[in-house]
Amino acid sequence: MPQGNFKIPAPKNEPVLNYAPGSSEKYAVKEALKIARSQEIDVPMYIGSKEVRTGRRIKMTAPHDHQFILGYFHEGDASHVEEAIDAALAAKNDWANLGWEQRAAIFLKAADLLAGPFRAKINAATMLGQSKNIYQAEIDAACEYIDFLRFNAAYMEEIYSQQPSSAPGIWNRIEYRSLEGFVFAVTPFNFTSIAGNLCTAPALMGNTIVWKPAYTQIYSAQVLMQVFKEAGLPAGVINLIYVDGPVAGEIIFKHPDFAGLHFTGSTGVFKQLWKSIGQNIDRYKSYPRIVGETGGKDFIVAHHTASAPEVATAILRGAFEYQGQKCSAASRVYLPDNLWPSIKKKLLRDLDSMKMGSPEDFTNFVNAVIDQRSFAKITAYIDRAAASTDAEIIAGGNYDGSSGYFVAPTVILTRNPKYATMCEEIFGPVVTIYVYPQDDFEATLLMVDQTSPYALTGAIFSKDRYAIDRASELLKHAAGNFYINDKPTGAVVGQQPFGGARGSGTNDKAGAQMNLLRWVSARTIKETFIPATEYGYPFLEEE
Ligand code: NAD
Repeated sequence: MPQGNFKIPAPKNEPVLNYAPGSSEKYAVKEALKIARSQEIDVPMYIGSKEVRTGRRIKMTAPHDHQFILGYFHEGDASHVEEAIDAALAAKNDWANLGWEQRAAIFLKAADLLAGPFRAKINAATMLGQSKNIYQAEIDAACEYIDFLRFNAAYMEEIYSQQPSSAPGIWNRIEYRSLEGFVFAVTPFNFTSIAGNLCTAPALMGNTIVWKPAYTQIYSAQVLMQVFKEAGLPAGVINLIYVDGPVAGEIIFKHPDFAGLHFTGSTGVFKQLWKSIGQNIDRYKSYPRIVGETGGKDFIVAHHTASAPEVATAILRGAFEYQGQKCSAASRVYLPDNLWPSIKKKLLRDLDSMKMGSPEDFTNFVNAVIDQRSFAKITAYIDRAAASTDAEIIAGGNYDGSSGYFVAPTVILTRNPKYATMCEEIFGPVVTIYVYPQDDFEATLLMVDQTSPYALTGAIFSKDRYAIDRASELLKHAAGNFYINDKPTGAVVGQQPFGGARGSGTNDKAGAQMNLLRWVSARTIKETFIPATEYGYPFLEEE
């Protein structure tokens, strides 16, 4: 092992490029989009050192253009889950015993590759595969993931440097071992950065991984795999398989070496996985670590002193960026009756100017939702609202799935603060507004707290510090990320560690020390320099 207390270069947030007309970044991403348009790629699974092609080719199309075939991936079955577990276990010792600075170097190199030569490619893949406009792709696939990689390396160094004190004659040490076994990363469609981080955070700490992405994110997942390989990640450390969730779960959750689940996705799926783990608890060598960030029903509350344009803008960005498909998206809003007329006016006027269409046309703010299932779920909520006496659709409400899964940004006004779209996660461009009598601020805060089982993000807008203080107190458990006079989306690694409580997850804060600590199992070592040679103690003497 090399001798030296190495220091990770101090991380800084990756600057968000602006893709203005004529910029080199805009040119590069347009070229990458052109290349993607000109080819249909063939995507293997990556198991150990092998690229696995099963011949069961599944089509990948752009959500905003069903005719646009991005390529095909090779679907696996139970045998590939077994192979991926074997590959992860075979790679484990060498990887866990590699110096931590060597592991860090691989992921820091991956960050530099994404910041430089792979930036346009990962952004283009995210734009086409997940239907994100260039800004949404840039803040996710490039910047947030680069930040995860660089900040986590620094947090690893900080964790390793946390050591106990020692009494005279002894030396106490803590060794941060990786978990015994393998980690299962189950990742969602909506953030390329989250998918990558769910694998690389435990891998950085010395674990080896079986990675099962959402089928709708495979197009960008395979670019991440290219980056890992280019950065020098040894074979078997991250094994990427495309297998139906329950098929993978059936094998993984019965395996004695299953050591941890790193999950992001819906609350229902996470609960199901937790139950499977519980049912199989007697099979495991260790108690598995279970880390999951799940659904949200994120709120904005305005006090009667808030600024109407600020609140309206927070609703527009918070609810409709990336078509509301962010776990943090604003989806229920509580507005005082004195501000409602001016907020409504600005909302409706700005929505009129918001363009929807393909992300390949850079002038579109809103793109398509991810797939048919999601389109059907969102539009069913809209149809029910249109027919309900409790709700009125005041903007949007129209949709068209013929060429791409397009749902217009939709604003529902309700007189019932417990109406379904105030309580349930829709995960689409739909926001519901409830207008309260301005004097009922405190009662409204209690209602916000008790309306949904989730507690991910939320925002208070006010110019009155007492009102801000009261909301912070009464909504203490209603959000793991709480915003004052800002929209509830857009958390930045290293600045606002992200995660929710209650039904929204285990709140292990992605991109923070708290998360990395879940992927190690500390060993305390006490060394005594001059050990005792007699068993007796002084109290045994009578005189
Ligand atoms: P999802 O729950 O449908 O899928 C997530 C992953 O679980 C996918 O890889 C899927 O294939 C897999 N899966 C589904 N059923 C499974 C099973 N029975 N066994 C094993 N794996 C299974 O979620 P999604 O649609 O990809 O993502 C949207 C959800 O993710 C929303 O609920 C959103 O709020 C949540 N999300 C939360 C956060 C957060 O930080 N809290 C971040 C992003 C997304």
